Amino acid sequence: MITRRPSKPIRVRDVTVGGDAPITVQSMTKTDTRDVPATVDQIKGLEEVGCEIIRVAVPDMEAAQAIPAIMKQIRIPLIADIHFHYLLALECIKGGVDGLRLNPGNIRDPEKVKMVVKAAKEREIPIRIGVNFGSLPPVGRIGISSQAGTVVSRLEDGVNKLAKAGEGEADKPSLVDHMVNTGLWEIGILEALDFDLIKISLKAFDVPTAVEAYRKMADLIPYPLHLGITEAGTVKAGSIRSAIGIGTLLYEGIGDTIRVSLSGDSREEVTAGFEILKSLNLRQQGVTLVACPSCGRADVDVIRLANEIDQHLKKINKPIKVAVMGCEVNGPGEAKDADVGIAAGNGRAVIFRKGKKVRVVQTEDFVAALMEEVEKTEVGAKVESALRR
Ligand code: SF4
Repeated sequence: MITRRPSKPIRVRDVTVGGDAPITVQSMTKTDTRDVPATVDQIKGLEEVGCEIIRVAVPDMEAAQAIPAIMKQIRIPLIADIHFHYLLALECIKGGVDGLRLNPGNIRDPEKVKMVVKAAKEREIPIRIGVNFGSLPPVGRIGISSQAGTVVSRLEDGVNKLAKAGEGEADKPSLVDHMVNTGLWEIGILEALDFDLIKISLKAFDVPTAVEAYRKMADLIPYPLHLGITEAGTVKAGSIRSAIGIGTLLYEGIGDTIRVSLSGDSREEVTAGFEILKSLNLRQQGVTLVACPSCGRADVDVIRLANEIDQHLKKINKPIKVAVMGCEVNGPGEAKDADVGIAAGNGRAVIFRKGKKVRVVQTEDFVAALMEEVEKTEVGAKVESALRR
């Protein structure tokens, strides 16, 4: 049983992040945001696979001005990703964006930070601070001063340590500490402006680094955490890397929203995100497929059968478990917690529910018969809220 770290819930339009809200799965578009049709098209594809929050890069004013047209055509909340320019943030807020990913420390002028924070506060939209191992500010810069004035007390230790650390190479903080202290410094800037609609991420490619950074930060702040392993890689390697990093943290109760970053179709990011949550019983999204790996006892080509059934199951949005097993003797027993399953034998198969045989079908009916049973399966008392915590 996972006990989630308590965090302050914030709203990203109609999606709650943190508190006891379900852990959300988000993604980022890979289109040029200025190309509205392409961006909308990609977001619609992401909505279809269950993406709950989408982020778009806003590198210039044209991209910022495309936000309203994009938002009109999509259903899910949209976050604008801005790196340095306060005017882009103001334009996106004016255009109705649901949240910002912005590091206030990157906007050097305190007055400009104030303007952005004031506008975000008026519209009650959150700001995610995105600390990334590859773009940390120099150690010395953080300790100089909080741009906005007072740094709240719990940040002082970290900031002082950094200021001291900047004095000599030997005292240099570890990468993890530098990430955490950078995050604390950024949070301090927002808090000093009386802004608390904050989310934070501490992403690194190296899984132990990211896990340690999130663990440390989780104990220091009340804000929700956006989990991610940055630049994780191609679909297969990146999904595994992300599953280990994000999964480790989630299992410890840390994390309120996740993004799997993959060099691949963004829909794969969402699918992988839900697979991670499903693996930990934290969310349920569509059917969970249980498939045996096949072995010398298999009487049929289980791998082909499982892949064929998987394609059919992608169209079913029921929080149920379906099993595809390669032999009648062991199959039903090995998958007895599946709501419905097929144990295929030579020329015939047993369809079972919770390990109990319900019918026997011939080879040509394997897929159709299983899908018929899937359609009949009732979701029952599997209430999503019970799977959230
Ligand atoms: Fe082997 Fe049968 Fe188990 Fe599949 S279900 S792995 S075929 S023993």
